[in-house]
Amino acid sequence: MVAPIQLVLLGATGSIGESTLKVLRKHPGEVSLLGIACHSNVEKSLAIAAEFQVPHLSIYDEDAFFKANAPPGTQLHCGIEGLLELATLPGATHVLFAMVGVTCLRPALDSIREAKTLVLANKEILVLAGELITSQARQHNATLVPADSEHNAIHQCLQGSQHKEIHKILLTASGGQFRDATREELENVTLEQALRHPNWDMGPKVTIDSSTMANKGLELIEARWLFDILPERIQVVVHPQSIVHSMVEFNDGSILAQLSPPDMAFALQNAIFHPRRLERTLPTLDFSQTLQLDFQPPDDQRFPCLRLAREALEAGGAAPASFNAANEIAVQAFIDKLLPYHYIPKVIERTLTYMPALKPQSFQEILEADQMARETALRETQI
Ligand code: NDP
Ligand code: MG
Repeated sequence: MVAPIQLVLLGATGSIGESTLKVLRKHPGEVSLLGIACHSNVEKSLAIAAEFQVPHLSIYDEDAFFKANAPPGTQLHCGIEGLLELATLPGATHVLFAMVGVTCLRPALDSIREAKTLVLANKEILVLAGELITSQARQHNATLVPADSEHNAIHQCLQGSQHKEIHKILLTASGGQFRDATREELENVTLEQALRHPNWDMGPKVTIDSSTMANKGLELIEARWLFDILPERIQVVVHPQSIVHSMVEFNDGSILAQLSPPDMAFALQNAIFHPRRLERTLPTLDFSQTLQLDFQPPDDQRFPCLRLAREALEAGGAAPASFNAANEIAVQAFIDKLLPYHYIPKVIERTLTYMPALKPQSFQEILEADQMARETALRETQI
């Protein structure tokens, strides 16, 4: 009998949080949910705490925290301190980072110092601090398990092989909702159109990022650090059906791929229970039906975000953090209807151009670079 996983779920009320809870419901007794965190969704987080009898609930927003009436047996936490308490809870074996944004970074470093297993859905942790996070994880014997579907697929394809046997990583991309749009059509994209993804049901930020291919840019940076692989050995391949979640090409010419329907429950289940393979949560692919899988190269002209992410990764230092910050600011300006859709890559490009070549060495310096890039990007959205 395997001891249950003691899980902390940061971002329980979001899209990844929901998919995680789906997996947990399918596997009662395998996971005990020690802690959950949200930003301000009191009602939903209390319902989750009651359903899973969660002993620790962290609500980031102070007003929301004061409104919450915790069920008996649930202790409430608040703010960044609350997140840090949950990230280091004694007894927790796994911490799943399912929050959006850079706030995840400090809790992730603290979980690493406690030698937890970090299940990573959040992208910013590795985009901002890939080198620091991976070196700290090695130093403290913490385990990083990718839950982003592409990286989880690569992680699965790499089982049983050696690093020196990898020739390249083939990172698949759906191409987003505007894959076949003309330049003119891209100039007239509305928020409603950008929030609709053909294959995946995700939170708003990652849905917009998929449509601009900025998401694939962030994933390129994630993959570089997670798998310790040079950027030139990571090739992005557009695969509209989102069934092949990524592939690894080995030195002998064999290519391994991981396939499953486009639902995050598959990657999350694999990441949480790794290395065990438990009963599936959802039905898988049905090969008694015709199944078409297409692959094509990405178009850097219509989707410059991918090229910009690669340039940022090659420039190193704070450039990936600047890419992320500029993208976040530009996407928010687009959501607020202050910036046309096709200006998102322009804001990123200008921010990367105007930011000094910083080489942050510590967590504090990374946050300072992030802040400087946000201020630069904000100015660029107002031009
Ligand atoms: P959502 O917007 O759906 O959910 C965000 C979650 O983060 C909510 O639970 C929110 O709480 C919580 N949150 C935000 N800020 C804080 C904070 N300061 N403290 C505590 N909790 C906070 O996002 P997604 O689930 O789509 O994405 C989560 C992460 O996973 C992102 O980094 C994304 O890029 C990544 N990812 C998502 C995929 C997907 O399919 N959705 C696929 C692969 C990666 P509240 O509800 O209270 O606001
Ligand atoms: Mg992904």
